[in-house]
Amino acid sequence: MNLHEFQAKEILNSFGVEIQRGIVATTAAEAVEAAKKLTEDTGTGWHVIKAQVHAGGRGKGGGVKLAKNLQEVEQIAGEIIGMNLITPQTSAEGKKVHQVLITEDVYYPGDSEPEEYYMSVLLDRANGRNMIMYSTEGGMDIEAVAEKTPHLIFKEEIDPAVGLLPFQARTVAFNLGLSGMAFKKMTKFVTALYNAYIKSDSSLFEINPVLKTSDDRIIAVDAKVTLDDSALFRHKDYAALRDEREENPMEVEAKAVGLNYVDLDGNVGCMVNGAGLAMATMDLIKQAGGEPANFLDVGGTADAERVEAAFKIILKDPSVKAILVNIFGGIVRCDRVAQGIVDAYKNMGNIHVPIIVRLQGTNADLAKEIIDSSGLDVQSAIEFQEAADKVQAVMS
Ligand code: GDP
Ligand code: MN
Repeated sequence: MNLHEFQAKEILNSFGVEIQRGIVATTAAEAVEAAKKLTEDTGTGWHVIKAQVHAGGRGKGGGVKLAKNLQEVEQIAGEIIGMNLITPQTSAEGKKVHQVLITEDVYYPGDSEPEEYYMSVLLDRANGRNMIMYSTEGGMDIEAVAEKTPHLIFKEEIDPAVGLLPFQARTVAFNLGLSGMAFKKMTKFVTALYNAYIKSDSSLFEINPVLKTSDDRIIAVDAKVTLDDSALFRHKDYAALRDEREENPMEVEAKAVGLNYVDLDGNVGCMVNGAGLAMATMDLIKQAGGEPANFLDVGGTADAERVEAAFKIILKDPSVKAILVNIFGGIVRCDRVAQGIVDAYKNMGNIHVPIIVRLQGTNADLAKEIIDSSGLDVQSAIEFQEAADKVQAVMS
């Protein structure tokens, strides 16, 4: 589950990571109140207005702006709230901005040498370890750094059983070229950041930039946090941080009816029971020259109601040109699934794409008969390859 910057920063702050302070606002008037409050707390009259959407590159898209006084806060917040923010990480339509974060300006006016670093903590699946990835070249273009000057990106591997050792935090500070107070502050920052990553059960932290001010503060200016969904049961308070407006509407709808659905770019919809079979089915579609439009695991109970819910979601995707249903009847009987498909099809009445149904397992023959005698535009298959050939035939 992805978080907004302001939520991510709250989590970091709760584990002692120094952050750029801010208050979230949903209207220009709230933004002005937030700025006044921040001035009381921090003394600075300059503020940054930051669009809160689940996408990076906001600065490049005009979603991060500096305001030198309250009039500017009001004006800029008014412009950003409600806009469709287009960044290198959003689709061409962009993302609607519902709220902004008003922050203290931590790049002090006249500060000639603010340093921006890059730092992330993530799971290195290949090594089964955690990793801190960092660079002196932080700011807005880390992708370009990774591509053109990969030697400027450092990696520190951490054994999860042992945890981050003090010398590793010092290595990070050293490689960033720090000394004196900044060195000490950076080791503290790295230690707190790693601790926050572990305790929050995150799978990704990305802080870009980490700022070093001229008076040697080390501050998280931006924060991207991805929480591990499978660990959310341990963090009841984090569940409320989900912002469904930022998620794919079809995935949200599927989740609500208990279907495991992931939207993809292709044109062949698939409905499968079991994640493994779903993966194999997607491979099969590719081999047959198609592109899967989705991953969909309907789970063990593929009854008429679930099949109908699944059809409805698949058919909401306008790029779907055919649907492949691939169900193995182990616990569930194939004839029941077949009847479910026929009932759902009749019930919906407006299915406009060919459907290929492959049912294998208990009562597969009976299931084929039910499909074949239904009089609907549904083709049946028992073998995997037979199904693939039929998909290919309807797509060409
Ligand atoms: P992103 O573009 O989505 O990654 O958003 P960031 O939070 O990283 O902000 C983009 C850029 O805005 C940063 O790289 C900074 O250069 C700038 N920025 C962020 N906070 C401040 C601030 O307090 N003062 C000033 N002057 N610039 C800031
Ligand atoms: Mn950033």
